[in-house]
Amino acid sequence: MKISQIELFQVDLPYSGGVYLLSGGRSYTAFDASIVRITTDDGQQGWGESTPFGSTYIASHALGTRAGIAEIAPRLLGRDPRQVDRINDAMDEALVGHNHAKTALDVACWDVFGKSVGLPVAELLGGSTGVPMPMISSIYAGEPEEMRRRVADHRAKGYRGHSIKIGALDSEGGPALDAERIAASLADKQPGEFFLVDANGGMLPETALRMLRMLPPGLDFVLEAPCATWRETISLRQRCPYPIIIDELAQQDDDIAFASAHDVADGIGLKISKAGGLTRGRRHRDICRSAGMTVSVQDTVGSSIAFAAIVQLGATVPPRTLRCVLNCEDMVTLQTARFDVLTEDGGILPPIAPGLGIEVDEAVLGDPVAVWSA
Ligand SMILES: [Mg+2]
Repeated sequence: MKISQIELFQVDLPYSGGVYLLSGGRSYTAFDASIVRITTDDGQQGWGESTPFGSTYIASHALGTRAGIAEIAPRLLGRDPRQVDRINDAMDEALVGHNHAKTALDVACWDVFGKSVGLPVAELLGGSTGVPMPMISSIYAGEPEEMRRRVADHRAKGYRGHSIKIGALDSEGGPALDAERIAASLADKQPGEFFLVDANGGMLPETALRMLRMLPPGLDFVLEAPCATWRETISLRQRCPYPIIIDELAQQDDDIAFASAHDVADGIGLKISKAGGLTRGRRHRDICRSAGMTVSVQDTVGSSIAFAAIVQLGATVPPRTLRCVLNCEDMVTLQTARFDVLTEDGGILPPIAPGLGIEVDEAVLGDPVAVWSA
């Protein structure tokens, strides 16, 4: 089996909640998605998506995604898409870094692989645990009582985890406002619910410590990505009574190995386009398992195709270390594919269909913006 054609599509995904506010005054209303279709010489087809969270979240942006795909795609023609590690070696030989560009191509190879053997991608990644996965909401930063209401809305929709965004600038209210946001968001916490309090690297050790000391006692949450750098995170870690997980800092294999070796964090946000796809995501999963670190399987954002990849990988993480999966499909108003997860006991499982388990709506995608053929 050889890759005979790679097509690249572009679609805009409006944010379903209006304006998404993040630490440091960042805001987002829509996301620019790059979607890839790989076709093989025996007629198999596979899909992959990479949608950066704007251009100010990590070092990735949509124009770079497509430029990176253009750099790599010609080098993959003629290769066997089922040899996923060799595909990734070839991508690394074509382009250093740029995980977000490699993601769509890598995921499309896994989709082809699964369809070619009639198995869901989760089975190829080690096998679904069969344990329904809790979904996590994404509660953007706002006024404390308004955030509390949005948590309640997501609770009513069945979400068992909540990602609370903080990181107010001093001019917005600083650490005192963030402490109020956390207290309000956790005020109605139900048994079995969990909370990630995510600053997206927007705090310094100083502001984070001030905020933590303004919190009421006994709150149960994990602090996510409090600081932007390793030094700041390690400094805070030594003085922080709450568990810490990293997200933006955990991109390359080496980042996860470093975090484990130096005890920087208790877990990671494993975002598939940040990791570079399912092949690298699988490695991050396994490093975390070996280190006893928890994993939240997510993506930066994305439509149904990205969500399918999340669900396929998430299903293979042992329940003891799987914190949650993100339903990114719910964050955008445009559906690019039909993806019917199985719902059970308030959690989700991948469908039994082969590959990613999706049916792409090609009418939504329009014509490809680039095509490479053997
Ligand atoms: Mg995060």
